[in-house]
Order: sequence, then C-alpha cells, then structure tokens
Amino acid sequence: MRGAHGGPRVLLRRLREVMAEPVSAQDRLDKIVVLIAANMVAEVCSVYVMRADNDLELFATEGLNREAVHRTTMKAGEGLVGLIAKEAEPLSLSDAQSHPSFSYKPETGEEVYHSFLGVPILRGGNTLGVVVVQNKAYRVYAEEELEALQTTAMVLAEMIASGELQPIGPAGESGGIAARRPLHQAGTALSDGIGLGHVVLHQPRVVIKNLIAEDPEAEIRRLEAAIAEVRDNVDRLLERGDVAHHGEHRDVLETVRMFANDQGWLRRIREVVMTGLTAEAAVERVQSDNRAKLMRQTDPYLRERLHDLDDLAHRVLKALTGGRIVPARDALPENAIVVARAMGPAALLDYERSRIRGLVLEEGGPTSHIAIVARALGIPAVSEVPNATSLVEAGDAIIVDGQAGEVQIRPPVDIEAAYAEKARMRARKQEQYRALRDVAPLTRDGERIGLHINAGLLVDVPHLDDAGAEGVGLFRTELQFMISHRLPTTSDQQGLYAQVLSIANGRPVTFRTLDIGGDKKLPYMDAVEEENPALGWRAIRIGLDRPGLLRSQIRALLRAGAGRPLKIMFPMIGAAWEFDEAKAVVSREVAHLERHGYSVPSRLDLGVMVEIPSLVHQIAEIATRADFLSVGSNDLMQYLFAVDRENRRVANRFDTLSPAMLRTLKAIVDGARPHSCPVTLCGEMGGRPIEALALIAIGYRALSMSPASVGPVKAMLLKLDAAHAARHVAELLAREGSAATLRPQLLAYAEANGIPV
Ligand code: PEP
Ligand code: MG
Repeated sequence: MRGAHGGPRVLLRRLREVMAEPVSAQDRLDKIVVLIAANMVAEVCSVYVMRADNDLELFATEGLNREAVHRTTMKAGEGLVGLIAKEAEPLSLSDAQSHPSFSYKPETGEEVYHSFLGVPILRGGNTLGVVVVQNKAYRVYAEEELEALQTTAMVLAEMIASGELQPIGPAGESGGIAARRPLHQAGTALSDGIGLGHVVLHQPRVVIKNLIAEDPEAEIRRLEAAIAEVRDNVDRLLERGDVAHHGEHRDVLETVRMFANDQGWLRRIREVVMTGLTAEAAVERVQSDNRAKLMRQTDPYLRERLHDLDDLAHRVLKALTGGRIVPARDALPENAIVVARAMGPAALLDYERSRIRGLVLEEGGPTSHIAIVARALGIPAVSEVPNATSLVEAGDAIIVDGQAGEVQIRPPVDIEAAYAEKARMRARKQEQYRALRDVAPLTRDGERIGLHINAGLLVDVPHLDDAGAEGVGLFRTELQFMISHRLPTTSDQQGLYAQVLSIANGRPVTFRTLDIGGDKKLPYMDAVEEENPALGWRAIRIGLDRPGLLRSQIRALLRAGAGRPLKIMFPMIGAAWEFDEAKAVVSREVAHLERHGYSVPSRLDLGVMVEIPSLVHQIAEIATRADFLSVGSNDLMQYLFAVDRENRRVANRFDTLSPAMLRTLKAIVDGARPHSCPVTLCGEMGGRPIEALALIAIGYRALSMSPASVGPVKAMLLKLDAAHAARHVAELLAREGSAATLRPQLLAYAEANGIPV
C-alpha cells in the first residue's frame, strides 16, 4: 500500500530537509512524527526513547493525545513497545489489541487504533528507543513501509545518541536517556593503576554525513566498488603474509574475506540502499541489525562471527568514506583512554605514551602481549569488557580501574570524585615507595634481599632507576619478536640487547632465550597446530630442534655483550641433558666468534629456569651444571597443579601459598645451596608482598618482579625478621601441611608483626 504522499523515498527527502533546519531537537522530533504519519498515511506516529532507568518514555506523537508526551512511560518488556525494545525486532500487526503483550494506556487514547507497526531504534546493536505507526483500519503494512520506518529509525538513532533530547519534568529524575547513561562494567584487570580521562576509539567510528541518497543506482555502484576494494586489500594482505602489524591475524582476514563474498549479506545491503539510504548508511544499518541479533546469542561461535562482520563493515565504511576517518593518534586528547575490541602490542606502542591514561579492551587475557606491553608502559588496563566499543562515544568521560578490573563509563560526579581521590592516594603511596628507593634492601635481622625487575621492552629498562633495583632478573626476549611484523634479524636483536646493556649501565641483566610456542605465537611463523600447546613444542624445545633460531639469538647476545659480563638463561628446561645441549650451542658460538676475531663477553654466566616440576627432582644435577637458577613460578605452578595459568575457571582452585607449592619452592633453594648455585625467583608471586614474605622465609634471597612491585616488596622486607619468619613458616608447614593454603595464617603473622603486605 503506497501512501498518497509519495512513498519511502519522498519521506527520506523530506527528513533530510527537516534535519537541516536550525531548530531544537525536540521541535525536530515533533516535525518528524508528523512527516512519517503523513507519508505512511497513518493516523498515529510516536517515538519512545529509552531512559537511563530502562523505561521507555513517549517523546513525540502525532495522533495520540499530546498531553501524554513526556508523561507516558513503558517498562522494557511491557506492552508492544516494550517488547520491541527488549527483542530489538520489528513488529507488524493488523490487530494489535489481540496481541498478548498489548497494554492499554488510557492517557494516550489509543484504543481506537487497530493496526500497529513498530521498529526498534538501534545504534551499534543497542536499543535507544522505538518508533511506532498506527492505523484505525485493520491494515497490513507492506514490506516497503517497514523498510522506510527502519531507515527513519536510523536517523532518529543519530539524534538520540547525540544526547540532544532530554526527558522533561518528573521523568528527568530518571537520569537522562539510556544512550548517555552512566555504566559500570566489570572486566578483567590487565595492568594496575587508575586512569581518568576521555574515550578515544582505537577504531574510530566512521562518521556518516549523508544518510539519505539522491540516486540509489549510483549508491549501488559505490557500494560495489567499495566491496571490491576491500576484497582486493584483504587478498593482498593475505598474499603478502605481512599481517602481524596492528594485530591483524590471518584467520580474521580469512573470515572477513569469506563474508565479503557472502551473497546474503550483500543482497541485504543492496535492498536497504534501494529504500533510499546512502551506501554507507545502508552498511551501518545492516550491521546494527546484525549486532542486535548476534548480541542476543549465547553461542560463542555466533558471537565471534559478530566481530568478523564488524570488521568487514568497518572496512567497507572506510572504503566508502575515503579519507574521512581521522586516525586517533593524530588528534589525541591529553588524557586519552583508548577503547578497542582487541589490539596488538605494536598498535599500542604507536600511540603517544604521554597522552594515554588507560586502555579498555573487549578481548585479551592477562598474559596476552598487549597486557605485557600495557604493564611495561604503566598504562592501567582492563579487558573482557563486553561490547565496550559500542557502549561509548568518542569523548565520553571514562575511568579505568586496573586494580579492580572495572570500568566506569560516563561516571556521575560522586563516582568520579571517589576515583580521583583513589588515584591521589595511590600517587601518595608511590611517593612513599620512591622515598625507599635508595634504602638498602635489608631485613630487620640484616639479610640482604636482591630486588630485580622483569623487563622485555626497551621502555622497561629505565625503571631500574625509578625502582632502585639491582638489575634485570628476567629479560623476556620474545617480546621483540612478538611486536615485530617480521622475524627480527641477528643484527636487530643485537641492537636491542646492546641498548639494554647500555641503559642498565653495569647492572646485571639476565637475558632469557626465546620463550615462544604454546600460547605465544609469532604471527609471521607458521603456527603448528597442537592438541596441547602448553605441553607441546615450545621454548627451548624449539630452540634445540631448530638450532638456527637459537644460534642467531646466542650470536646476537654474545656480540652485544662483547667485553662486558653477560648472563643468559634457558626457559622450559625439563632435564639436565637439555641444558647440556643448550650450553653446547653457546660454546660453539663463542668458539666461532673467537675464531673470527670478535671479542666475547668478559664473563659468561649460563642459567636455567626452573619451571617444569621434573627439574625439582634433578636439582643437584642442574645446580652443578648451571651458574645460576631462576624459578619461573608462573609455569611451575601451572604444571605442578595442572592449572592453565590463563584459564579463569580454574584460577582460584589452587594457591601459590599452598603447602605443596611452598615445599616445592623450598626444595629448589635447599637443593641448590650445597652447590653454591645462586637461586632467584622471577614469577609474578615474587612481586606480591605476602608471597615475597613466604619466599624469604623459606630461603629465597633474590626476587625479580615487575618494576611497580619493588616498592611494596621493599616496604615489607624492611619490617621483616627473616629468621623469625623462617621458624614460623617451617612450623606452619609441619603443622598445617594439609591446608589448601597458608595465606590466612601468613596474613595474620604479618598483621601481628606490623609488616605491611
Ligand atoms: C614464569 O613462568 O614464571 C616466568 C617468569 O616466565 P613467563 O611468565 O614468561 O612464562
Ligand atoms: Mg615461564
């Protein structure tokens, strides 16, 4: 049924005129409902906007009692309007009153209308409101009319998201409209610290200036050209194999390519263009519908497809709008909080560090590369915040709590004040720790505890000075490989190691050879599919089986360390013979360099990481062969208890302060002592004061940790009597050996003895 006023295209043209008029948002909305009603030959057109309290408030109407505007509200799920909002699906009924969800609102005078067509107002898949037309007659709305109303809804979505429309009167106490409401989202803590600032979208939303098209045929041609361009680009990236930069991984691109050839997706966009939208508006609309549908899915596979479709839509929009997307880093505000779906470490390093106050991600675990880089840069970060990118608008106020793993979006003033205070308190604490920088790390009974830092990037190394640390106890060399988009050459590696040694300026640095494989994949190397990557071909196992890579790294290390002392250690050694083989590779390289007249390190110490439980039972054999040992408690814990260190579901089952773990750790120091082989511990537990207390008590005298942990650990040990703690822990281990953890007992001990943990 085509209206006498000219159908959807005429409606869109008139809408464009209204949008351009210099009137208030409310006046514009009042005109729009009149236009829609006239165009669709409907007696009623109403717009409901979702408020912060989730109620839907009538914001404008043509045909219903105008007195009801800003008075009538519906709960989400209540009545037909509430149902549409909840399901994010349109509803077309020729006899609305016979629908089980129909709910009568006397103030609107709506009982005389029989047919009903309503569509959700969606943006980025979120429901912002509902637009409805109604007729007295038992009318069946045409497919074309539904399309027209959905297109109009898209225009309304932009108006609502801009925040110009506000509830009036008593409804104003509901906290404004839903699109702009404060949100508290829980995620996973990635990097400690509190950041207050404003949203910068890592992938800025494409700003669509023209929603309404002049010439649909021309729009179809633009659309096809843009999709062809995206297809070509993706093909080229895949051919080149250079897909590591900015976290663009091969499988993502493969899926994007698949969807770009998907006829259903393309047909749907073409249909929407034919209703009168520009190509970019059509892509956005179809994607918003897809999001709304897929977000309500619980199947993780389907939800994953949502990301792939988002990615494709973004690429097509970029192609359509040409240079109109401003890259975020060019226009970075002073206090930027970067919000992204996912991000590679290289992309984070591209930002101007001094302007970044925080990072919020939808995906990425605590041991992901991005997390390691965020920690190295001291950027508070939270991940696994569902749907983060579509809950915010660029410029929104936002707070990242990297300690609790929480995000506050558009926080109310009192919340913002509380966080500002929390941030100030932390700064004061940091100041107190800085004051300890030059204090000798001696326990009350005079035991010296070596405090070292863990590092992996050049930016980490200057932390030696801020933290007042003795040296770098663990330099994770794989980070250079992970953030690079091609395999670093021997001279790239040598360059980095030499710079690290120069910045360390005589303080010892323990370089760990490449620890890749398992979950640490290098995008430019062919991934080996394994059933059990954590137990598979990784670290030194790859190094010994493919000695080319290990040789080139050893050569780079030896050259960088020429004329000065050098320390190298090997990860994931499971048996003494593996260390013998690794040492043989080093000896051959030393001989090679000497033969060719290069100078070699003035002293070379070779160490072993103790992180596979089998090694605990060969400590004597290892301690007699190695110059030093370093306990990797992260992996040791993972293999001892068979708990995946990344899997949150099992994370709380076992504790590092359990008798089993403490006895294992004690066996290592005790076993190495008769051989005068020094032992350090470089896993995360060494950086937590209560755990460090336990480690000192069982005999550890050197710990390596993230730079931010040095202050708190030092503050703890200055108040600790090591001999007293040793007796207490020995007693606890003897007495409470069957406890799941000794944490409560150790916390009580610290409390009773005035030790800050
Ligand atoms: C460990 O396993 O404890 C360790 C320090 O190494 P990584 O965390 O790099 O595996
Ligand atoms: Mg490890």
